[in-house]
Amino acid sequence: MGIVDKKWFKFACPKCETEEITAITDSGSQYGQSAHWSGIGARGFSFVSVSIGSEPDVESATCKACGGPATVQTDYGFGEPKWD
Ligand SMILES: [Zn+2]
Repeated sequence: MGIVDKKWFKFACPKCETEEITAITDSGSQYGQSAHWSGIGARGFSFVSVSIGSEPDVESATCKACGGPATVQTDYGFGEPKWD
C-alpha cells in the first residue's frame, strides 16, 4: 500500500561534528484515523517544532553543547534514509 510510517530527523552540529538521528512514527493512520505522531526526541539538540497539518516538523535547532545553530534534515521511510 506504500504506507510510509516514519518521519526521520537528522540533527547535526557542524562545529562539534556531532549528529543525532531520530524518527517519529505515525501511529494513527493504519487504523484509518487521522495521523497521530509521537513527539520528536533529540537529546543533544534543542529545537523549535512546528506542525504542518497534524504532522510535526522542526523549524530550527540549536546544539546544546556549544549553543550554535544546528542543521536539520528530514526524510520519510520505514528504515533509516540514505542522507545526502
Ligand atoms: Zn555544537
